[in-house]
Amino acid sequence: MLSVNDALALVLAEAMPGVHETVSLTTALSRVLAADIATPHDSPPFDKALMDGFAVTTSALVNDCEIIDFSVTETVTAGRVPANRVTATTAVRIMTGALLPADCDCVVPVERCQFDESTPQSVAIPRAEIFAEANLMRQGGAAQRGTPLLNAGTRLQPQHIAALAEFGQAHIKVCVRPTVAVLATGDELVAFDAPLRAGAIRNSNEPMLLAQAMSSLAVPVALGVAQDNVDDLKQQILRGLQHDVLLLSGGVSAGTLDLVPRVLSSAGVQCIFHGVDMKPGKPLWFGTLQAKHRKTLVFGLPGNPVSSLVCFELFVRSALRKISGIEQPPSPCLTARLIRPFLVKGNRPVYQPAEISISDGQLVVRPVAWNGSSDLKATVEANGMALMSPTHGQYNDGDVIPVWYWRE
Ligand code: AMP
Ligand code: MG
Repeated sequence: MLSVNDALALVLAEAMPGVHETVSLTTALSRVLAADIATPHDSPPFDKALMDGFAVTTSALVNDCEIIDFSVTETVTAGRVPANRVTATTAVRIMTGALLPADCDCVVPVERCQFDESTPQSVAIPRAEIFAEANLMRQGGAAQRGTPLLNAGTRLQPQHIAALAEFGQAHIKVCVRPTVAVLATGDELVAFDAPLRAGAIRNSNEPMLLAQAMSSLAVPVALGVAQDNVDDLKQQILRGLQHDVLLLSGGVSAGTLDLVPRVLSSAGVQCIFHGVDMKPGKPLWFGTLQAKHRKTLVFGLPGNPVSSLVCFELFVRSALRKISGIEQPPSPCLTARLIRPFLVKGNRPVYQPAEISISDGQLVVRPVAWNGSSDLKATVEANGMALMSPTHGQYNDGDVIPVWYWRE
């Protein structure tokens, strides 16, 4: 049977970054940059003071007194332009962030000077405090014009927004957020706000998958529930194929009403794989439909809630990252130290719901008590999953194993 890594490679080979759009900077948080951005001007854009104090020139050191007297020609606050240059005998009182006067190559912090507010026309400065390039930043000192600032594929965080604002980038080219349609299947399903009837269960996969899609910053589209009959299923699947990604839940196993694979093929979706060597999630189905203007990735997720959850985290989230334009991280991203023994049963790799936390500055992982793929309740204690290999058998405290957080 196909391994998880091989299945993931097949999924990623089909997932292609989508088209671009331009958004205003104020709405660009968490969007993915579509193009590299270089600095359009120097930063800082002018020579500036880094301290409140006095702007002077080191040529004042020709005066060999231990304490040198200056006359103060003006005070320059941030945002103002100095009227005077500095000379060997004159200083400019200056505030943090203000443009330096011409010929200044040193700012002496006010607390190092002998200065009295009642006689602001003069200041005395110990010569030891006067040295070249002290407490100032030259134009371009942080970045010269044309320096690479952000790369395509960056998911914009607040510090990136600030850097873009500093350089006047009011409109940003970003990747369009993919749309993810979710279609639950099953005659037994009732809506989560409906009372239960005999034999029915609530449709928990739809809100879960919509939430997972939202946490991937995709645009979720709820299609509701398709009944386990070919006509209803086909009609709803055709609606779902209008989107970048279609997630079906249920109907991909070997039951008499597991109609999803055959209805997908009759809708023109090409199967790429059906079945992956993993627990939970073995019946996972994956295929694509190449239409004129878009390719839809179709995931037939097994109906058991934890199977759906795990398959989304392993496969769908990775695909969405790629479609969204984000650079792929290596998978798995993290390892953690096991803090509870664990025995792997069966012969498939187990993606075990687990609580990942930090202890003594290191990631540790605690598998939660779990009764298999239908035991959704157990997952509320977990914030991720740990991979346990069947060839390893008994795991002990302290073993280091791969883990995934269930989030972006
Ligand atoms: P299936 O893959 O359709 O055979 O479903 C496997 C199990 O998952 C069955 O017990 C279903 O009742 C359950 N199941 C299927 N779809 C959902 C859903 N949307 N929400 C919660 N449980 C589901
Ligand atoms: Mg079913």
